Amino acid sequence: MIIAIDGPAGAGKSTIARAAAAALGYTYIDTGALYRGIGVSVMALGIDTKDKAAVAACLPVPIDTTDAIRTPEAARASAEVAQIPGVRAYLLEIQRGMARREANCILDGRDIGTVVLPDADIKIYLTADPEERAHRRWEEQKAKGITDPYEKVLA
Ligand code: C5P
Repeated sequence: MIIAIDGPAGAGKSTIARAAAAALGYTYIDTGALYRGIGVSVMALGIDTKDKAAVAACLPVPIDTTDAIRTPEAARASAEVAQIPGVRAYLLEIQRGMARREANCILDGRDIGTVVLPDADIKIYLTADPEERAHRRWEEQKAKGITDPYEKVLA
């Protein structure tokens, strides 16, 4: 059984996905960690994560799995590399393979049920009010030491 949760940033997808996986005894596949891992690997190569051509040229890059993926720099780098079609194509097959190896799993992201696993058994689109999403993201960033004002996050 594959459960896919899609939705915009800050809707609470990963919170719900982790809680549901724990309650059901399913494997939670953290797709954001893959984007973070690529961001960290690209930075380690000395490549600017905003330089789409340079990032695309270094694919397929090994995906970092250390604690370095949890830093604010890794968060920024992951959001930048996630905009590059070659990166998304590379991770598409990796995510499909990971899901198919599990008997029961939950994945969340903005494109899991639409692009990555369109045949998922259960597909959920989770969203929330922009103010709630911004508040959640702002609190998350604050905990990670990123001090953008709430209004900037909401915008
Ligand atoms: O959820 P997390 O903050 O770990 O994700 C890091 C970044 O990876 C997100 O900001 C987003 O840009 C990207 N991402 C994505 N598609 C996914 C998961 C994450 O584009 N399925």
